[in-house]
Amino acid sequence: MTYQPPVRDHAFILRDVLNIDQHGALPGFSDAPFDVVEQILEAAAQFTGEVLAPLNTVGDKTGCKLDPVTNTVTTPPGFKDAYKQMCEGGWTAIGSDPAYGGQGLPHVVNLAFSEMSSSANMAFSMYPGLAHGAYSAIHTGGSDEQKQTYLPKMVSGEWTGTMNLTEPHCGTDLGLLRTKAVPQADGSYKITGQKIWISAGEHDMADNIVHLVLARIEGAPAGVKGISLFIVPKFIPNADGSVGPRNEGAKCVGLEEKMGIHGNATCVMQYDDAVGYLIGEENSGLKIMFVMMNEARLGVGMQGVAQGEAAYQAAVAFAKDRLQGRRAAR
Ligand SMILES: Cc1cc2nc3c(=O)[nH]c(=O)nc-3n(C[C@H](O)[C@H](O)[C@H](O)COP(=O)(O)OP(=O)(O)OC[C@H]3O[C@@H](n4cnc5c(N)ncnc54)[C@H](O)[C@@H]3O)c2cc1C
Repeated sequence: MTYQPPVRDHAFILRDVLNIDQHGALPGFSDAPFDVVEQILEAAAQFTGEVLAPLNTVGDKTGCKLDPVTNTVTTPPGFKDAYKQMCEGGWTAIGSDPAYGGQGLPHVVNLAFSEMSSSANMAFSMYPGLAHGAYSAIHTGGSDEQKQTYLPKMVSGEWTGTMNLTEPHCGTDLGLLRTKAVPQADGSYKITGQKIWISAGEHDMADNIVHLVLARIEGAPAGVKGISLFIVPKFIPNADGSVGPRNEGAKCVGLEEKMGIHGNATCVMQYDDAVGYLIGEENSGLKIMFVMMNEARLGVGMQGVAQGEAAYQAAVAFAKDRLQGRRAAR
């Protein structure tokens, strides 16, 4: 692996182009003068370059494995330990709300870390990336109780999250979605349907996975006006916030090939009367999910830059290494 995190480039952008020291009045920026940010960049470079980058090839070659009996996914060798180091280093919490254990630093600092992670090992970086998107959606649309239950664990990285939009017959046009939600006497819902291409849908790196699932409550209007959003946890949290019983109706039934991202588990998620909890109002789920979808869109842009950097570095190393042809002067 040739990737060397470009700390000087990040420092140049943050200090000289964005003038990070002049934004102290904005939330989070007073805690992020450039000398602090520079130390964060150095530490980020060390973690992403020395821990994540060496796992990129093994992630690609070994990939994720699904046990069809237990419906559990094993991530490539080294991923689990690297994720533990990531959580211990506080990297999942950089830009998150201090009210839930986050560091409250500006998003632009989190973005620099995410870009280095994506260059080093994009498949790995998608696990915390999806979790952060789910965190943002719950932070925006969840009840106080939902925020208290889920956000601290997602900020610490103990629990990750997913985005469940796509179904076999609908991608762009989510108004066609068929996953249904049936209200229960205790206020929860039973969720039934299939979602495909679910990034980080099942894995062995976190204690729980918080699936955010778009579904239509029985009797709701057709089209996008009848879509609601549900939290469907892999394990139902206990009252004290610890991990409780398995949500038996929510499982991964297949791994898919998606754009060569073998180290990230791209899952077919099957929901059969899975326990779900409504986020926000009935039929207003798409609005809350757009918090996550818009974050994912910006994240995809950043992934493009990150892959460009990694490809450039690999090309330079290859061109220097492969001596061939004849001298230009001859
Ligand atoms: C790397 C990756 C990760 C993903 N992760 C997730 C995930 O975690 N969770 C999840 O739910 N989904 C995920 N997806 C799926 C993604 O959300 C869908 O691919 C996306 O919504 C588009 O749906 P589709 O692929 O079915 O394309 P389609 O809807 O079939 O669209 C194909 C093409 O047709 C165009 N098109 C569609 N409808 C119209 C129209 N009415 N008029 C004109 N043009 C149209 C589209 O713009 C597109 O160019 C992921 C996809 C990728 C590539």
